[in-house]
Amino acid sequence: MNGRTLDIAVVGGGLAGGLIALAIHRAQPHSRIALIEAGGSFGGNHRWSWFTGDLDPAGEALMAPFPQTVWPEGNIVRFPAHERQLAGEYRSLASPDFDRTLRRLLPQQAIMAGTRVANLSEHGVELETGEKLAARKVIDCRDAVPSEHLTGGWQVFMGRHLRCDSPHGVVRPVIMDATVEQPGAYRFVYVLPLGPQDIFVEDTYYADEPRLDRALLSERIAAYCAAHGWTGETVGEETGVLPVITGGDFAAYRDRLAVPGVVLAGARGGFTHPLTSYTTPIAVANALAIASQAHLAGEELACFVDRRAQDHWRATRFYRMLGKMLFDAAEPERRFKIFERFYRLPEPLIERFYAARSTRLDQLRTLTGKPPVPIPRAIAALLGKGRPLVQG
Ligand SMILES: Cc1cc2nc3c(=O)[nH]c(=O)nc-3n(C[C@H](O)[C@H](O)[C@H](O)COP(=O)(O)OP(=O)(O)OC[C@H]3O[C@@H](n4cnc5c(N)ncnc54)[C@H](O)[C@@H]3O)c2cc1C
Repeated sequence: MNGRTLDIAVVGGGLAGGLIALAIHRAQPHSRIALIEAGGSFGGNHRWSWFTGDLDPAGEALMAPFPQTVWPEGNIVRFPAHERQLAGEYRSLASPDFDRTLRRLLPQQAIMAGTRVANLSEHGVELETGEKLAARKVIDCRDAVPSEHLTGGWQVFMGRHLRCDSPHGVVRPVIMDATVEQPGAYRFVYVLPLGPQDIFVEDTYYADEPRLDRALLSERIAAYCAAHGWTGETVGEETGVLPVITGGDFAAYRDRLAVPGVVLAGARGGFTHPLTSYTTPIAVANALAIASQAHLAGEELACFVDRRAQDHWRATRFYRMLGKMLFDAAEPERRFKIFERFYRLPEPLIERFYAARSTRLDQLRTLTGKPPVPIPRAIAALLGKGRPLVQG
């Protein structure tokens, strides 16, 4: 990188930073961008999935160059009381494909993986090596951090990609198999048939504590696979401990992380689905919105994104309320009842829920009928403060 001032430095080449860099490059091909990522590759070690209907045509166009596994024949959920096949097309992108595509589409000089930023300001970044890069705009997409300003619980999971010895026979993704034992958390297994003999099996818990017991989850995945007759070689594993936000002081949260004049985006900036912790549709929409305003001065762009974050927080209140029901009103072993009931609702409503676009009517329909938690506990949960989202 020579001494010329960058137009835009994007710090953190995860899903959010990578999509923002790509969207800006598409909108302003001559802008001098850098995508600066501490890890050796963009996107870390993740598999991101979403429903095709989550994205609008512009979002689909942004994601189109990334190789995706597509399941056009719908998906399945399983609960103790019912099983259901839903029609929604499902998609998945693995981080090595994310990395390869960004390296192909972004200008060579924009690729700065393996580079940790030590400090950033509205005028540029200072690398861990001491090198300084001046930039007209800086976009902070580093990891999300736990915060005492937010409350909630945790989504803890381990996923395994298994190459089976023989065809596994699974055709459709299983978004939630909650027929498994419920040990002190809402537990479900998520299954993606990646190929005739390749299958991805993830054991997920909506848990009170951010503790990931790798040995235990590994054993449970092995037991689930064995029970389905899937044996073979493990070709990849991933883990996650994601916050499930049920409340808090969002302005204080952002203030704590904000650097004056720097755009605060990504999961770190609060752009997540509070209940599912998923970010793909939100990251895509945000990348396009930022790219459409990339002509603004740094300070103005930071304000624009701050307003989007506040709007997103307000618009997702309903999901935080459901999260309160899940964590604070339901007994951990009976948390599955909330999803079991939810999955009896009409499919378009379920699709809007995942896309974080539930209408007022959806919200009403979700809440009416026989409640899956005792009413006094529900009221206590709604009035309660919740647990701070801090680790350790
Ligand atoms: C295993 C896993 C699976 C998930 N699956 C899904 C899914 O199926 N669907 C979905 O929508 N969501 C999923 N999520 C949730 C969410 O989409 C991801 O967490 C998403 O990666 C968040 O994107 P992000 O870019 O905001 O943050 P991150 O992906 O955390 O990216 C932040 C990046 O910043 C880099 N960084 C940090 N500090 C510095 C520094 N000082 N200098 C330079 N770089 C730095 C990090 O190395 C990292 O690459 C998953 C999360 C995990 C962990």
